[in-house]
Amino acid sequence: MERFYGTNNEKVLVSACLMGEKCRYDGDDCLNSDIVKKIDNPVLCCPEVMGGLPTPRVPAEIIGGNADDVLDGQAQVITITGKAVTSEFIAGAYQTLKLAKEKQVSIAILKEESPSCGSCSVYDGSFTGNKIIGTGITTALLRRHGIRVYSEENFESIHEF
Ligand code: SF4
Repeated sequence: MERFYGTNNEKVLVSACLMGEKCRYDGDDCLNSDIVKKIDNPVLCCPEVMGGLPTPRVPAEIIGGNADDVLDGQAQVITITGKAVTSEFIAGAYQTLKLAKEKQVSIAILKEESPSCGSCSVYDGSFTGNKIIGTGITTALLRRHGIRVYSEENFESIHEF
């Protein structure tokens, strides 16, 4: 079976929910048995929990811009009940970056569509289930620091680049 490592055989950063941790906003997981089978000894992260949010938690979306705008103070992350959680999302992104640097990670596999972990698409801020091209805040920060971010949908292409 092909296994997936970083470019120098270092560990891969993986969203904890993909490995079966029940850290999703609704208290569930997003277990992906392919990732569990193919990634040896991953470094697990859950940016939203690392940023101080509880589980379960009220769902939140990026409003008024994209993830880079959030990092630059130009957009917000707001819960469906209207509470700003921008600072927690940014804190979680920086905590995840710190962890990635400590563990010398250069590749991450993060959960698609999350406002923290999405790498190709995210929800559009309307809480209607509509998706748009974009990334989560943690993904945007990791990419600013040269970390390649994949998702459960495309991680098999890691070795194509
Ligand atoms: Fe945590 Fe990211 Fe999974 Fe959300 S998608 S539960 S922030 S690891």
